Amino acid sequence: MFRKVHHRLTLLCAGITTFLLLTMSLTYLYVSEQGLKQSHFLSFQRDIGTLIANFERQTLITHTWLSQMESYNAFTISVTDNGIPLLFNERERDEKRRITEQEALEYYRSHFSAASPDTARKSYHTEYAFTSSCKEDYYACYAYIPYENGETELLILSPVRPLNRQIRTQRIRFAAIDTAAVCLLFLFSFFFTKKLLIPIEQNRLEQIRFVAAASHELRTPLAVILSCTGAIRGHNGKKALPEEEETFLNTIYSEGHRMKRLIDDMLFLSQADSHTFSVHPEPIEPDTILLNSYEAFEPMAAEKNISLRISLPDCAMPPCLGDRERLQQLIAILLHNAVSYTPENGSILLSLTYGKSRKADPDLRRRHDSYTISVADNGIGIPDEEKAKIFRRFYRSDQSRSTKEHFGLGLCIAEEITQSLKGSLHVEDTPGGGSTFLVRLPFKEPGHSSDSHG
Ligand code: ADP
Repeated sequence: MFRKVHHRLTLLCAGITTFLLLTMSLTYLYVSEQGLKQSHFLSFQRDIGTLIANFERQTLITHTWLSQMESYNAFTISVTDNGIPLLFNERERDEKRRITEQEALEYYRSHFSAASPDTARKSYHTEYAFTSSCKEDYYACYAYIPYENGETELLILSPVRPLNRQIRTQRIRFAAIDTAAVCLLFLFSFFFTKKLLIPIEQNRLEQIRFVAAASHELRTPLAVILSCTGAIRGHNGKKALPEEEETFLNTIYSEGHRMKRLIDDMLFLSQADSHTFSVHPEPIEPDTILLNSYEAFEPMAAEKNISLRISLPDCAMPPCLGDRERLQQLIAILLHNAVSYTPENGSILLSLTYGKSRKADPDLRRRHDSYTISVADNGIGIPDEEKAKIFRRFYRSDQSRSTKEHFGLGLCIAEEITQSLKGSLHVEDTPGGGSTFLVRLPFKEPGHSSDSHG
């Protein structure tokens, strides 16, 4: 599917850029050809002006002078004196040239003679472009020059072939450059769209992995529930004894709860993905929230004989803006993990520090006053190579795979919450062994504008 989308995107991207490129280059080519044609015609007119001025200055027109003018300007000149052609080049004149001159004269008569000035005794000349019957383009000039005893008519022809050749060469160059550019555009579009699709493809694979892992996690409690119900109903021919039924019902109840917890976690993450879960800022006292969490987890820690301690700032922390529920959820995830991954007789320290940040914190991006919540345990610790992986969805390190309580979603949720509160979450080693999770959150005084996630 992605290959198809990639090819379509490549075509679309290259198609649009090719269209723009071709439109631009064709417009440029057209303007440049028009300019070339205009400047050639102007230069023809200039040369004709000089030639006729010279011609009028001559008292005697010699064959040599006319031949020089012809070869100097690359013109063919035919002169008629009082209606009689001057034969200076008549011998060399071939049939084709004679027909072309005839056509040029006819063209002039049919298109311009009516508009010619009423020239009793005045000279004039008209320059024009025409195409011969042999499909050759010419610039032509008809000139009328009167003198004392009569009149001279000149027909000057200049082939446009060199200009056409120049235009053709220019077109070929443009075509070659455009073809190369289009190929490059296609190549560029191919790699560009491929790069563009990588995050989408990764996201899709992530989703597939997420669904597969979620299905796997749900299958186990569901299988247990089904087998317990089967046993109670006597599906395999042997109905459970009344005293066994109670055990099966308890198992069904706890597995049902386990499924509910997992579904709640997945719903939370899906809301985070679709940016639909929101943060409700209100004035909170982080030290009070920490104290509440501490009290909530003390019995759980005591059950494992773990010493859970709390450290709060000496002077009471002023209230700040935050989301009480999210913060409690975040601390609960970290404390639950700390208790789970710390062996019996271990210790956990929950602490809160608050202060003005003197240097810019790269994670908070701005110079904020911040407060830090830390959960430090002296438990099994997290190897360096796993520190980045533990924030992935459904990731659990080997030691904890068998623990039914954990799905590998806790830290993803903790990270989502921290991000929604515009803070940062880090893990580092506790000096002497174990892990320390640090949550840095911006301190916003009540009265600040509220932020919401989604
Ligand atoms: P889980 O539900 O498995 O705890 P989490 O996302 O909370 O999922 O944690 C992911 C993994 O990170 C855990 O499986 C565990 O290997 C590791 N981990 C988390 N907290 C701790 C901790 N305090 N000490 C050691 N390992 C931890």
